Amino acid sequence: MSIQERQKNRAVTVAGVQIGGGAPVVVQSMTNTDTADIDGTIKQVAALAQAGSELVRITVDRDKAAKAVPYIREGLEKLNVKVPLVGDFHYIGHTLLKENPDMAAALDKYRINPGNVGFKAKRDKQFSEMIEMAMTYQKPIRIGVNWGSLDQDLLTRLMDENAARTEPMDARAVMHEAIVQSALLSAERAEELGLGADKIILSAKVSAVQDLISVYRMLSKRSSYALHLGLTEAGMGSKGIVASTAALSVLLQEGIGDTIRISLTPEPGGARTTEVKVGQEILQSMGLRNFVPVVTACPGCGRTTSTVFQELAQSIQNHIQDSMPQWRDKYPGVEALNFAVMGCIVNGPGESKHADIGISLPGTGETPAAPVFIDGEKAMTLRGENIAGEFQQIVEDYIERRFG
Ligand code: SF4
Repeated sequence: MSIQERQKNRAVTVAGVQIGGGAPVVVQSMTNTDTADIDGTIKQVAALAQAGSELVRITVDRDKAAKAVPYIREGLEKLNVKVPLVGDFHYIGHTLLKENPDMAAALDKYRINPGNVGFKAKRDKQFSEMIEMAMTYQKPIRIGVNWGSLDQDLLTRLMDENAARTEPMDARAVMHEAIVQSALLSAERAEELGLGADKIILSAKVSAVQDLISVYRMLSKRSSYALHLGLTEAGMGSKGIVASTAALSVLLQEGIGDTIRISLTPEPGGARTTEVKVGQEILQSMGLRNFVPVVTACPGCGRTTSTVFQELAQSIQNHIQDSMPQWRDKYPGVEALNFAVMGCIVNGPGESKHADIGISLPGTGETPAAPVFIDGEKAMTLRGENIAGEFQQIVEDYIERRFG
């Protein structure tokens, strides 16, 4: 399947945001504030939404957190932040939803982990109660399986059945089957209880790249529910980014995945919004969506012994990032722009001509002049101390002319 022919899963609409059904892949995120901290949570949800998160999930782990949800919603409305809020429930979600109708109404989607809804006889009862609440409040749900909290009864049963086979599968394959079955059986049960298939999203998260690819391939072959994709516990820094990108790229390329979340562990003091940026960058580098103009910059080499071109690339990148919230409203379509910032004449003019606007800086020993290319044509040459400032002005003028 080509990247343009995405698997057409059922569409699920979450407070106006369509997931699946051929809609563009949606980027979502999750807060790490205590939901009972109303102001802190409002601030973080607003920051995530401002960064471009199209859905934000918050933990609803206890009564105090559940009671905070309507106030969080109200606070966000006052800030004019309209992002749909998803409640993440474990263990006592059925009780919290029943006892806090304002919370149940204020959320736009419920995440249910079938491995954490209760054990033995209580499992079906408590799962059913959550589905009934979703039906009462007409909310979609995500059945979110995680191998860290996999339904142990199901896993044990499948392990026993496998052991009785003449040719048993390996333990990993049984684990994959248990993860997939946990999601599919729960979805089937939710439908039996009366919830529409157009209100169900599935996820089956694991923390190893190859496992994730296998599990989602199985899931997409065996169902047409909208799929939420993400590598769980991806990790910190470049490890988390690379592992998530590796796993998601393979699946997205195969047309699998309707919404993504990048589960990065923030560095101490690091921004939570990085996970949104990474999700957007994955989709944009794969040509699936455009979020911000792209800056193509060469890596530099022995021909760029000064830091001038690194500074210019960074200054343009920062300028785009800072301006994007205003540009997005003022200049629709600006997110598809391409800039090139190149270090010398070897590839500089050629790469710059392919961009909407490109600049080729002088390498060591070259004439101290920086030709600027606009729409493939050489437009001017910059010289002197203020190349960065002048180039920024050229960018601003171009955007105003083309999108204003
Ligand atoms: S464009 Fe020039 S400076 Fe940049 S990597 Fe290539 S040779 Fe080096």
